Amino acid sequence: MLVGIGPGSVEHMTLRARAAIAEADVVIGYVTYIKLVADLVEGKRIVRKSMTEELDRAVQALEEAQAGHKVALISSGDAGVYGMAGPTYEVLFQAGWTPEHPVEVEVIPGASAINACAARVGAPLTHDFCSISLSDLLTPWPVIARRLDAAAAADFVVALYNPKSGRRTQQIVQAQRLFLRHRRPDTPVAIVKSAYRRRERIEFTTLAQMCEADIGMLSTVLIGNSNTTIQHGRMVTPRGYANKYDVADGGSTREGEKPGRSLSTGLSGWYQDLHERHAQGASAAALSQLHKLPLDYIEAVLAEPLQEELTLSAASQDE
Ligand code: SAH
Repeated sequence: MLVGIGPGSVEHMTLRARAAIAEADVVIGYVTYIKLVADLVEGKRIVRKSMTEELDRAVQALEEAQAGHKVALISSGDAGVYGMAGPTYEVLFQAGWTPEHPVEVEVIPGASAINACAARVGAPLTHDFCSISLSDLLTPWPVIARRLDAAAAADFVVALYNPKSGRRTQQIVQAQRLFLRHRRPDTPVAIVKSAYRRRERIEFTTLAQMCEADIGMLSTVLIGNSNTTIQHGRMVTPRGYANKYDVADGGSTREGEKPGRSLSTGLSGWYQDLHERHAQGASAAALSQLHKLPLDYIEAVLAEPLQEELTLSAASQDE
């Protein structure tokens, strides 16, 4: 059982995670996490491992399971998010494991740091977001840098995992540099250290100043998108209701918009607008620049006849 135990408080562990640990004969994990479930592991065989022994932990879990023991391999947060689930499957596949194998595998989900930290600061993930780990222990820097650049350019809200450690202090500076090429210096940033743990600390800052903040191994850095704000100590990314409704006057629909329908600038509206502009003489290249979309995509869209179905339908099932 690959158990995600959540951010670090018993209250935020799932019932299944607690049951899995209670069922196990052997519990394997990092010392800090085993301490969090001390009440459940009494009388069990416990294997404490350090941070760098991930593959060892996976190999040992397999050996124990093959010997007939029920094993709980503990990860903080979610076991599949920069956690033990991946390395364990890699070890299993290398050993020739298949789903028919007598060793059964269960991944038990938990609230990841991104969920926990977001909840502590407000509602920063209400629009598209992604996470990027700044750890270059197993990932080449150009790969990380390209993802930072792409996420910054695409205006994602971004959670930076593993932002900084004693030895890795410059990755966060480089991340800031890449972000500043696309985002305003006053973009809101929240730094959450040890969410839901005893030494929890939350700091609000800006993209321009984030490197001056106290950031460490136990911190997650949340960078807002171009619409994110911090008000009254809450970091919030608007869902987009203001594009369609007049939020202040209780929710009347803005002119040209319909409840339950795609936005006028949604796919159908955009499609129509694109064709109209093109018909009025705008070149594909100009439209590509206007919308910051690849020229070949714009050309492909323009090459299709305007579909009535597409422009009239769009009764959306969205909330
Ligand atoms: N599997 C874990 C992530 C492990 S990577 C999960 O899903 O959350 C380790 C990184 O996770 C840390 O460097 C930090 O960026 C983040 N992290 C884990 N727990 C955290 C917590 N309680 N508060 C803030 N960040 C946390």
